[in-house]
Amino acid sequence: MASSTIGPFPISGTPVDEVVRELDAKRDNDVRWAEGRTFGLVFDGGDEVRDVAERAARLFLHENALNTSAFPSLGEIQSELCGWTADLLHGPPETAGFLTSGGTESILCAVEAARERARAERSVAEPEIVLAESAHAAFHKGAHLFGLQTRVVPVTDAWTVDLDAMADAVGPNTALVVASAPQYPQGVVDPVAEIAELAAGVGASCHVDACMGGFVLPFATIEEPDAWDSPPWDLAVDGVTSISADLHKLGYAPKGASVILHRSRQLRRYQTFDFDGWLGGRYVTPNLQGTRSGLPMAAAWAVVRHLGADGYRRLVRSAIETADRIRTGVRAIDGITVPGDPRHHLLSIVSDTSSDEPIDVFALGDALAARSWHHDRQGPPDGLHLTVSAGNAPVVDEWLDDLFAAAIEARAAAPGTVTDYATLE
Ligand SMILES: *Cc1c(COP(=O)(O)O)cnc(C)c1O
Repeated sequence: MASSTIGPFPISGTPVDEVVRELDAKRDNDVRWAEGRTFGLVFDGGDEVRDVAERAARLFLHENALNTSAFPSLGEIQSELCGWTADLLHGPPETAGFLTSGGTESILCAVEAARERARAERSVAEPEIVLAESAHAAFHKGAHLFGLQTRVVPVTDAWTVDLDAMADAVGPNTALVVASAPQYPQGVVDPVAEIAELAAGVGASCHVDACMGGFVLPFATIEEPDAWDSPPWDLAVDGVTSISADLHKLGYAPKGASVILHRSRQLRRYQTFDFDGWLGGRYVTPNLQGTRSGLPMAAAWAVVRHLGADGYRRLVRSAIETADRIRTGVRAIDGITVPGDPRHHLLSIVSDTSSDEPIDVFALGDALAARSWHHDRQGPPDGLHLTVSAGNAPVVDEWLDDLFAAAIEARAAAPGTVTDYATLE
């Protein structure tokens, strides 16, 4: 019998201290991100970054960006963060953007804007998104919500978009073509210029999903141009019409903040909703939300302002050097490997099928979990995911030791089981 989640609504109130104690107790089994034990989900920029975010959060906990005439502070915060990000991502002077609640919302906005643009400029009635199988699932969510068809193309042996297959899939109904910088599963950067050209060829939009890379790649290029540079991948590429970058990932801001930028105000207009036929008054919103918390906006502003480019360069160097040590460590163990040639902060671990003794990576994940390390599981191919951030740097030696021990254990173990990237309840 299905168990009910219905419980009696609390009748009498509870004193503040007790409420906080109860909440704190709920966290007992949560992953220990503050000790660097997660490779994803939470990205820790250190004590000072947390401090400035927490102080900003307290100031703006109750504010509402639904109406920036009432809260000009939040209008400024949004406009400054978008402007700074546009500068970082080589936007032309007309670049215009908004803050959203995260990568998914930024992507949903890009999908909706592309559909509206294709309808308005090219009368496309049955709009399509062309994307690689490596592109984030949020694009499929956008297609589902906004009534577009998806045309999924494979990746090459290097895990980047197969350009020939993409060229075949792009056509008169294409509203949006997707590039990732980098893509999440293997951490490699798509050939953005070539993808953008395919989109431009039919007058379609091209979105670069830099949710992961937006606040990493620009600083990596400055730090180690020889090893960590990528071919042009941002608004410097002509045919790129929009780009997303998550402040709440490697921007090291707390959850609920991402930037979506469009190449011009006119392109941004396709994203906004403006309804003037309601008894409540004109309803004009920049993204999918109505009431919009000022907390993540202000906290992200505070983190970016506190770190500056110098701070991000330091954190990016730390994250990529840590990821490099991890890649070297993984490749040195017989039975597992790192697919592709990811050079930044993302990577995955898969079974090495060319080895005489391939290791089951989910059993490896179980053995690492038993040592209190959290890795998301993905596939196909079956893999453990690592988004490495500066918060992992202090414990990388311990992780490498545990990986070695876990590999020995996994060789002898029964196969492990898959877990989900995201969950319902
Ligand atoms: C995390 C991620 C997203 C989705 O962002 P959320 O903030 O989780 O909604 C989109 N694209 C890529 C490449 C990502 O890594």
